[in-house]
Amino acid sequence: MKSKEIRQRFLDFYKNKSHTIVASAPIVLKDDPSLMFTNAGMNQFKEYFLGNSIPKHTRIADTQKCLRVSGKHNDLEEVGKDTYHHTMFEMLGNWSIGDYFKKEAIEWAWEFLTKELKINPNHLYVTIFEGHKEDGLEKDQEAFEIWKEIIDEKRILLGNKKDNFWEMGDQGPCGPASEIHVDIRSDEEKAKVPGKDLINQDHPQVVEIWNLVFIQFNRLASGKLQELPAKHIDTGMGFERLSMVMQGVQSNYDTDVFTPIIAEIETITGFTYGKDEATNIAIRVIADHVRAVAFAIADGQLPSNTGAGYVIRRILRRAIRYGFTFLNTNEAFIYKLVKTLVIELGEAFPEIKKQQHLCENVIQEEEISFLRTLAQGLSLLDQMIAQSKGKTLAGTKAFELYDTYGFPIDLTSLILEEKGYQLDEEEFKKALQQQKNRSKDAAASTTSDWVILREDDEEEFIGYDYLDAEVKLVKYRKI
Ligand code: ATP
Ligand code: MG
Ligand code: MG
Ligand code: MG
Repeated sequence: MKSKEIRQRFLDFYKNKSHTIVASAPIVLKDDPSLMFTNAGMNQFKEYFLGNSIPKHTRIADTQKCLRVSGKHNDLEEVGKDTYHHTMFEMLGNWSIGDYFKKEAIEWAWEFLTKELKINPNHLYVTIFEGHKEDGLEKDQEAFEIWKEIIDEKRILLGNKKDNFWEMGDQGPCGPASEIHVDIRSDEEKAKVPGKDLINQDHPQVVEIWNLVFIQFNRLASGKLQELPAKHIDTGMGFERLSMVMQGVQSNYDTDVFTPIIAEIETITGFTYGKDEATNIAIRVIADHVRAVAFAIADGQLPSNTGAGYVIRRILRRAIRYGFTFLNTNEAFIYKLVKTLVIELGEAFPEIKKQQHLCENVIQEEEISFLRTLAQGLSLLDQMIAQSKGKTLAGTKAFELYDTYGFPIDLTSLILEEKGYQLDEEEFKKALQQQKNRSKDAAASTTSDWVILREDDEEEFIGYDYLDAEVKLVKYRKI
């Protein structure tokens, strides 16, 4: 079954259960100080759950563009290395706002997976909340009773607060969750280790596909839980993971969500996917990141040096670097993949079609400029190596490359290693720290018209911060 059909089947299924189908919210959030990017389907319905606004419909379903590269959900470092976490992905979801509750949510999820899509029930496991003493919560018996009617009890597992209890924040709506996991390993593998032992263990073929959240409490400022008068349902299912199950493949990247992009990367670079791991990772990184970057640009977020724009720039640079290092790409090419994205996703997300040229132009510009930086850095590094005594490059030299020329430190290490050299890492770290201290002092003593507001303290760590080229995260304010 093609992924386009899977998406449509989901929406039709819930439409037939009286849900109103709504459009995805933008991936970039402009007016929510608590969140940079949409990271779950429920974000756009937050005000309903908080009781601040009354919904037109009490049953809603959609597919939501999500981006998990910052804050509570940051999967960036996994992306490319594993086969089932993306930066940008689609989350299929259905919601009840004070309408139906656990029984329907569970039964319909099961009906959709096993009757509508005909997924073998023997490949599925479910988890329910085990309870939590300090919160005074027992095991979610209600969910357990419902599941017991539809699935073998041996396939119902208990999950802890981290995986099976959802909270919006320190205060506010929250509740137990029930997750559905698939085990798509071969029978032979299953005989060796039971699937239940691999749930939430980062196994690429035993993965979570759907999360059903039962919003039934409100957490007060005191930390106490209060039963909500109106209870809600919030579910989220990974579209690419579901496609993997439906298409009988072992990785999201082997589904038709990704194969056309990967084929294009292969044509452009001459490298083949599936041959060796370094190439595979690079191809997956690029295939993934181009989606995140193109969707962000289509929603109005251009790469820049601050805030959300900076996160987008770094995602794109990560892709450029993987291409440069592992696929020998010295020319801009990622922008060419946008065309394929438009063909595949332009129908479900018309904004990407409408903004195709903007996406292509912006990505191409970024690629050209960053590749220039990389080329300059490379030739400087060669000179430094030629001049260095012994087999170690001074940390101060590597810092100069990083600070003045924007050359990524991990690339410096890699090149040195290839040439049989090593980097004085301690010295590099020291130089980096000194530079940070210097700019802190400068910020404190600025007395001109423009005050530099340091963002470092609020800045979220997005994984490879210190490895990346940019160091000057500053925001200007006119006084
Ligand atoms: P995981 O434990 O696999 O990281 P999660 O528990 O963080 O997933 P949820 O917040 O429950 O995920 O999101 C709902 C669903 O969205 C998940 O069940 C999964 O199918 C999908 N999903 C979550 N994160 C990603 C991601 N980075 N890429 C692709 N799909 C994802
Ligand atoms: Mg996660
Ligand atoms: Mg999980
Ligand atoms: Mg989950």
